[in-house]
Amino acid sequence: MDESPDSEPRVVEGACLCGAVRFEVTLPTLFCAHCHCTMCRRAHGSAYVTWIGVPRLQLRIHAGGTDLVRHQSSDHGQRSFCRVCGSSLFCESSRHPDRIDVVLANMAGPVDRAPQAHFYFDDRAEWVAVDDGLPRLGGESGVEPR
Ligand SMILES: [Zn+2]
Ligand SMILES: [Zn+2]
Repeated sequence: MDESPDSEPRVVEGACLCGAVRFEVTLPTLFCAHCHCTMCRRAHGSAYVTWIGVPRLQLRIHAGGTDLVRHQSSDHGQRSFCRVCGSSLFCESSRHPDRIDVVLANMAGPVDRAPQAHFYFDDRAEWVAVDDGLPRLGGESGVEPR
């Protein structure tokens, strides 16, 4: 990998399960974290969801924009998924309008960082075992030290 300071920013492709929705993320990301909130759990049908936070201008949807369904999942949050295959793709919040969260699992290649923390750890499923040394954040905002 070219690490020289004047190299082009690295771009990583992403897509939903069926490939209708295709997008790319220009690095660097803002963070990478596992979210244990109940909405992530239900929306994705999984114990928790690993997200990358991306400045909005660094996400480009280049196919399937019209297949993207938006769901207002809370007063401030909107989740979007592919209407063809159901893949959950993005989460946006009016609390941080310049950022969009992208599901790491839908990226085709490695990004610029490994998961750094657990968010909403107080809300985790009781049947999930977490055995890593990452910070476990929680509280009202989901990202406070516990
Ligand atoms: Zn799809
Ligand atoms: Zn969540």
